[in-house]
Amino acid sequence: MSPDLEKQLFERYPQIFSGQERIWCWDGWFNLIDTLCNQLQQATAKGAPQVTTWQVREKMGGLRFHVQRPEPLQHGMIKLAEAMSLRICDLCGNRGKLRGLDGDMSSGWMRTRCDEHANTQPE
Ligand SMILES: [Zn+2]
Repeated sequence: MSPDLEKQLFERYPQIFSGQERIWCWDGWFNLIDTLCNQLQQATAKGAPQVTTWQVREKMGGLRFHVQRPEPLQHGMIKLAEAMSLRICDLCGNRGKLRGLDGDMSSGWMRTRCDEHANTQPE
C-alpha cells in the first residue's frame, strides 16, 4: 500500500497495527480496511478485547487480515471484509472480480480487478 495511505491507517488505528510496518496490498482496498478497523475499534469501545494484527496482505486475490484470537463478532467482521475484497478491485477500489493472468484461472496469478485493471501488474 502507498506509504501515505498506510500512514493514515497506522495513525487512525495504532492499537490494531501495533508493531506493523507494512500493509501488503494495493490501494484499492484502503476503504475496506479502514471500514473494518473502524468497526473493530467500535466493538472494542463497547467491551470487546483489543485486536492486533500480525499481518495484513493480499493472497490468492483476496484480503487476509490476520489477528490473534478474535472473538466471534470480530471474526465475523474480518471474514465479511475478506469476502468483500473479492468484489473490489485492489488497485482502484471499483467493482471487481477475481481474475487469473490473461483470463487463465490456473496461472497461479490471481487478483481481484475491475475491467480496466484486469491485466495490470504493478508489482
Ligand atoms: Zn480497477
